Amino acid sequence: MKRLLIVRAFSFVWVLAICQFAFAQGNKPNITILATGGTIAGAAASGTQSSYTSGAVTIDAMVNAVPGIKDLANIKGEQISNVGSQDMSFDIMLKLAKRINELLPTSGVDGIVITHGTDTMEETAYFLNLTVKSDKPVVMVGSMRPSTAVSADGPLNLYNAVAVAADPKSKGRGVLVVMNDWIHAAHSLTKTSTTAVQTFMSPLRGLVGVTAYGKNDFYSTPQWKHTTQSEFDVSNVSTLPRVDIVFADVDMPPDLIDASASNGAKGIVIAGVGNGNMNKASVDAAAKAVKKGVVVVRSSRVATGMVDRNVEVKDDELGFIASDELNPQKSRILLSLALLKPHTPAQIQEMFRTY
Ligand code: ASP
Repeated sequence: MKRLLIVRAFSFVWVLAICQFAFAQGNKPNITILATGGTIAGAAASGTQSSYTSGAVTIDAMVNAVPGIKDLANIKGEQISNVGSQDMSFDIMLKLAKRINELLPTSGVDGIVITHGTDTMEETAYFLNLTVKSDKPVVMVGSMRPSTAVSADGPLNLYNAVAVAADPKSKGRGVLVVMNDWIHAAHSLTKTSTTAVQTFMSPLRGLVGVTAYGKNDFYSTPQWKHTTQSEFDVSNVSTLPRVDIVFADVDMPPDLIDASASNGAKGIVIAGVGNGNMNKASVDAAAKAVKKGVVVVRSSRVATGMVDRNVEVKDDELGFIASDELNPQKSRILLSLALLKPHTPAQIQEMFRTY
């Protein structure tokens, strides 16, 4: 009798533990981490070595190195690529967008985290901001120090990114980037230091919020069209039209613009001086390109400020587009997507004002 009671009590405790586990699992959000490589997955031979290889560590190894991350969410990992983001390509970006658009409509996925190199993080973030078709959280994260470094920043960044993706308050804010406790909008962030841990800034618009050890505080919602309001659909797209960036500087040779147009560019973004300016010879070359059907966008090599129409360049007369707040690399992303379908210059200008 006593033995029977002990067995029953033991079974009861066991069933209770299983129920508690199932309840805890069921209560936690489901986050899928899509890994693409970068320094966050980088490894060096020692903790203080400056040279390292990006994209050397798998997603499972990265997650296992972050204490407490599995208390935040039920986590699944998928390896999309394993490259330094200098090797990010439109092929990988399209693969990412399509995979996210497959995952997010399912009830088993509440949010996505993407691990990515910091060099081109702003481009992928902005591309996904325009091509993901869901308001569920999509959060990008990277690190400035490889996983093997003394004081690596990747583990806490990843922890915070999962906490932001798991937070229902992140919904409807477009693609977010979480780095060094700050939450940025895809439209506004840019990399400002080649090596500092505090490299990402959102100079004109400020932060969407902050996060500290998984506790999030949101300040603002980005006001540009994104995700569910975006007209760009890449579900059947396998290549993007060629758009080149031409860097303007003192005495720039205008034949860079001619070369770009004659090599098949459908669009050219000028990383202009000041308010999207370039020398007279280059303005003439760009006007000639427009006459051949190439779309020319004037952006700026200056880190902050907007480029407006008809300030020192006669955009109305010459048929140019002004990039508004988008830097050259994000202008290239928007123009590539805009050129997937025929649009008038006025329609493309409107896109630069609203996306
Ligand atoms: N080159 C690296 C990359 O972008 C740098 C980094 O991740 O911080 O992949």
